[in-house]
Amino acid sequence: MSLDDLRGARHRQAHYRHLAADPVRAMRKRTAWHLAPAPREDERACGRLLPRADRCRIAVLTADHRPRGPWRIERDLLGPGALYYRAACLRCDDFEGPARERENDAVEDAHDHVFPGWRKLPVLEPLPYDATDRARSRWIEQAVRAYPAGWFDQGGPILTYRNPGGTRHVPGRAPGGGYDMARPRPLALSQRQRPGRTGPTQDELF
Ligand SMILES: [Zn+2]
Repeated sequence: MSLDDLRGARHRQAHYRHLAADPVRAMRKRTAWHLAPAPREDERACGRLLPRADRCRIAVLTADHRPRGPWRIERDLLGPGALYYRAACLRCDDFEGPARERENDAVEDAHDHVFPGWRKLPVLEPLPYDATDRARSRWIEQAVRAYPAGWFDQGGPILTYRNPGGTRHVPGRAPGGGYDMARPRPLALSQRQRPGRTGPTQDELF
């Protein structure tokens, strides 16, 4: 397989491991597409293909094209550069999404492939980071009731409202270990939650 034919999460990750293991080629690994984070199985894979998943599974690849250091030649060769992301699948070797500059976009591309229809699912309140075990159980129960049967057992995502500044899609935070996909909180909701919104108006006070 030539480099131009290289495609898909498993083949690209094997190539990345191949580069990483060779001191002469290791410099090129930063710009080679690879899984982020690397799966645990990759420790043993060492350049060989990861096992093919028995069903479609989310994979997000990344490649770092940001110039490093003060060397102008790298900047000239690579341009201003960026950290790129793209969707892939651990079963379908021929599936890849387009290169994206926002991680969230690549994560969404991957979900369109693995969980079509995910965008129409109900949006819930997120589980607070400091939630008690009891609150966590209640949140999971509520999510399981609101979503299709078996959805989370397949690693399906949950959709939660977020405020500006907390809009990353977070892997591993859905009840079954899938992504917690960020949805902007509707303006009406956030206004209703503002203290004093239902209190007296300015005219009534003066
Ligand atoms: Zn697939």
